[in-house]
Amino acid sequence: MTNLGAGWSLSAPVLLTLLVWLGVLWLSHWILRQRYFPGRNSFFVMHLGILWWLLVAGLELAAQDASSKMFWARMAWPGIIGVPTFWAIFLWQYVNSERQPLPRRYVLSLAVMPLLTWLLALSNPWHGLFYAAASAPISAELGAPIRYVHGPLFFAAAAYVYLFMLFCLVVVLRAALHSQGLYRRHYLAFVVVTAVPWVANLSYVGFGWMLFGFDPTPFSFAFTLLAFGWLIVGVRLFDLLPVARHLLLEALLDPVLVIDQQQRVLEANPAALQLAGLSADWQGRALADWPVFGGALRDLLSLPSGLDAAQLLTLSSPPRYLEVRRRNIERSRRSGNMRLGEMLYLRDVSESHLGALKLVEALSLSEERLQTISLLHEQLREQALRDPLTGLYNRRYLIEFFQYEQARAQRDKQTLALAMLDLDHFKALNDRCGHLVGDDVLKALAAQLSSHLRSSDALFRIGGEEFVLIMPGADGAVALSRLQSICRELASTPLATRSGPELLTVSIGLALWPAQGQSLDELLQVADTALYQAKRVGRNRVEPSILIG
Ligand code: GH3
Ligand code: MG
Ligand code: MG
Repeated sequence: MTNLGAGWSLSAPVLLTLLVWLGVLWLSHWILRQRYFPGRNSFFVMHLGILWWLLVAGLELAAQDASSKMFWARMAWPGIIGVPTFWAIFLWQYVNSERQPLPRRYVLSLAVMPLLTWLLALSNPWHGLFYAAASAPISAELGAPIRYVHGPLFFAAAAYVYLFMLFCLVVVLRAALHSQGLYRRHYLAFVVVTAVPWVANLSYVGFGWMLFGFDPTPFSFAFTLLAFGWLIVGVRLFDLLPVARHLLLEALLDPVLVIDQQQRVLEANPAALQLAGLSADWQGRALADWPVFGGALRDLLSLPSGLDAAQLLTLSSPPRYLEVRRRNIERSRRSGNMRLGEMLYLRDVSESHLGALKLVEALSLSEERLQTISLLHEQLREQALRDPLTGLYNRRYLIEFFQYEQARAQRDKQTLALAMLDLDHFKALNDRCGHLVGDDVLKALAAQLSSHLRSSDALFRIGGEEFVLIMPGADGAVALSRLQSICRELASTPLATRSGPELLTVSIGLALWPAQGQSLDELLQVADTALYQAKRVGRNRVEPSILIG
């Protein structure tokens, strides 16, 4: 034992106290350097309480004479009452992730008891209700510890403190029960941290157990210190769990709002504030009064919807689309869940939504274009196959058509008739009336011939005033009689032209498939020969090929 003179002594317990004190000082310093975590302020104030308690405990241990020891013992009381008070506040705020600092009036009312107890303890020499007059050193030796005889005020103060400790235990045990994994483990660590100093104090107050002839509670803070050291370094308490939750909201690019039953906004992350263009005085404001999205969101919430289904919030100028998801915030009660409010999670889907709209637009546009293109394609094909003057099919389509009809006739074992028609003395008409009148005649003739067609027939203009008529399914006799009636009708029906009606005749050569030729060229050749024969023998007639005759 080192005697410091003037009534002080530096014993091993004093050194131990000093060591713990330095450790707690370091921890307090560390807390100050931390970024926000729930209950940070209370946690810090509690450490100030511990520092005070340890300081005066060390002074009591180091003091040599009994009256100074007793003085320092009385000085410890604001720490003794303050530590459990602020530990309880911290745990409550931490477990409930309470971000709001405790209102000033609460802090003041909670500070009343430590200060009052301090006053009562300091005034003990006058009333003796804290420590009875029988309190005295345990031996005559210099610096001997004091055996205190506790009075009613001491027990009242102890009871007050124990109420807080009980509260702390309930809070952390409940939190441990309701959580899992890492969360549960660190709440259980809080249970132990709470229980150890309390057990130390109970054993002192209830059973007179002492350490170095002293209340063991302040020494138990050495354990608390180790436990916190382990929680902080080992479990990354504070920076990992609650802070992570909080940071998540802070860092989230999507707006998140918490509203109460009356649809007042209690919580909003920076993204939500940014969307509304708010920076201050927003807490507690009715959702409907929030700029930009408040009204629209209120209306959306009034619509019935499944809680899991996302709703689309549409904002105008500038157009924005937000997907809104809602989660009830409930407190479980034995009588059932009580709804406290709702968390609203807004996800900006403008880009994908506008993209989808554009895509739909583009799709319908290209659909439209595709239709136009196919129409044009169809028209082009028609144009390619038709003769512009008469609108009849041309020679190009004759080839295609014949192939198709030939295949069908082959399959159905049917015949097919091909007739070649040529206007008689057309050149003379042209010379007499002009080419335009000649054109009118060609058009009128095409119309006249077309009116005689059956649905399976097809008429082609293959040259100047030469036409081919294909009659699928017709045999020689049928074809001949139909062609003859065409001849007769034409010879008796004048064709309308710009210079008046003109009566013309045709000569027709007929050929039959398969009897007179296999290919189109062969048949055309046969029909042409027959046509030549018709011309030769007087025109205005049908000349069947020799075979038919
Ligand atoms: P034939 O009875 O012997 O057939 O006497 P034709 O005068 O009809 O003789 P041909 O068949 O040799 O004459 C064909 C005439 O048809 C020649 C030409 O002036 C006329 N022609 C050919 N293509 C057209 C046309 O597109 N428009 C008009 N207006 N005339 C045409
Ligand atoms: Mg001709
Ligand atoms: Mg002719």
